[in-house]
Amino acid sequence: MSYLVLARKCRPQSFDEVAAQAHITETLKKAIEKDRLSHAYLFCGPRGTGKTTTARILAKALNCQSFDAPTTTPCGECESCVTIAGGRNADVLEIDGASNRGVQEIQALRERVQYAPQGRFKVFIIDEVHMLTKEAFNALLKTLEEPPARVIFIFATTEPQKLPPTIISRCQRFDFRRIPTDTIAGRIKSIAQSEGLTLSDDAAEIVARRADGGLRDSLSLLDQILAYAPKGELSADEVAEILGILPLDAFVQIADRIAEKDPAGAIEELDRLLESGIDISQVASGLAEHLHGALTTALGVHRDDISERATAEYTKLAERIDKTDILRMAKLASDLQTKLKSSSTPRFVFEELLVYLATLDMALDLHNTAASLAPSAQAPVGAARIQAPPPQQAVIQEPDDHPRPPLDPKFAEIIEHFEALRGDAKADMVSHAKMIEDEGRIILKFPHSLNFQVEKLLMKKDNLDALTEAVQKVFGEDTRVKLLVDEPPSEASEPKPKSSTATIPEGV
Ligand SMILES: [Zn+2]
Repeated sequence: MSYLVLARKCRPQSFDEVAAQAHITETLKKAIEKDRLSHAYLFCGPRGTGKTTTARILAKALNCQSFDAPTTTPCGECESCVTIAGGRNADVLEIDGASNRGVQEIQALRERVQYAPQGRFKVFIIDEVHMLTKEAFNALLKTLEEPPARVIFIFATTEPQKLPPTIISRCQRFDFRRIPTDTIAGRIKSIAQSEGLTLSDDAAEIVARRADGGLRDSLSLLDQILAYAPKGELSADEVAEILGILPLDAFVQIADRIAEKDPAGAIEELDRLLESGIDISQVASGLAEHLHGALTTALGVHRDDISERATAEYTKLAERIDKTDILRMAKLASDLQTKLKSSSTPRFVFEELLVYLATLDMALDLHNTAASLAPSAQAPVGAARIQAPPPQQAVIQEPDDHPRPPLDPKFAEIIEHFEALRGDAKADMVSHAKMIEDEGRIILKFPHSLNFQVEKLLMKKDNLDALTEAVQKVFGEDTRVKLLVDEPPSEASEPKPKSSTATIPEGV
């Protein structure tokens, strides 16, 4: 039985069939029409975006026997077109740079360059050209400096930065783009259909997302799906199960629970996924991707590798959560992946993070994203909404043993309420914070030296509840509370005496 893998079977045979690279194929077509071909092309771009495919189509265009001269529409049927497509044409030599990287191979190639082509052009396609050795590049350079007539080189690489500038400068360079997720999904769906398998839009999108901008990878995934389910219909869930990946909905559910401030619900969603046999690190990376997607969407960044449906979900999430919170959530979720690897109880670590994320408004930032809230020009997100503190408070942070300015009367009132609830030691700790009023919420920003004390304070729900209560007594019932810790002092500033933290009582 001969089974042709889809990536070969569905390989585009004409310039117009190449997906999402019209900026390249149109330029090549014009060059052919105007007879202004370069003798060396450099095709750069991620894997599976059509570099080798385009190189072969160009080779066919140059040598198609159905035309008297190079054509933009090779017939695909003459002997030349057929043998080029099958990789067995005497004039078209494909070399894998990874396994032919030495100077001997390039010298052998230079000898072959001297022989006249049987057709119109000899075409040398060197894939992964960045793998060549320095000596091999030097040998190649000599040929490029004195290009023989009727010889065209096409170099393909995923890592153009590894090529010597002398090579790059002698080539016409084309940069292949990642193929948009929706384009891949559309193609996957129609190819599956032609094979007798109906995929839902969501199902095709799962395949496309997994392929990450590469069409070839998406076709390999479709091969895998067809091996399980050669005919019929498949839903997103079924495709996700076959490929062992998570559908977008899984993260929509977790993110919804977080946005609803429902930590128990978030943990239940996680449990459900883990019980279905999904690997915990995969859930973590998916959640990080989801939150990152919400963050970039909230900032108005348009990305081709995010499908319309995912964009719609990210937008919904971004509308529910404050931008600064999304930034922190995304950061924490990214860090989670490393933490899981080093933990002997990864599930607990994950669950704790979910609780943390779902209670974030009450939580702290111990990861120094506080800088994003500082009323300075470099603040990336959400900073514009923060009211700048009065000028004398905005001066450089003073060491702890310096006499502190009198507290803002409202802040003093908060401390008083909090002291009544949790005692004077904890109240004294809180009084080291700087209070910032920000549209319906109160931000308490602690000096970096109190990092650990703040962390301890916040581990206890009673403390958090009391602090909220105290703030709400002063600022009204709907006020939210946010605690932040300052960036560590920069190297240039005077180091704080270690003893300064000793005045802060232990046990808060
Ligand atoms: Zn032909």
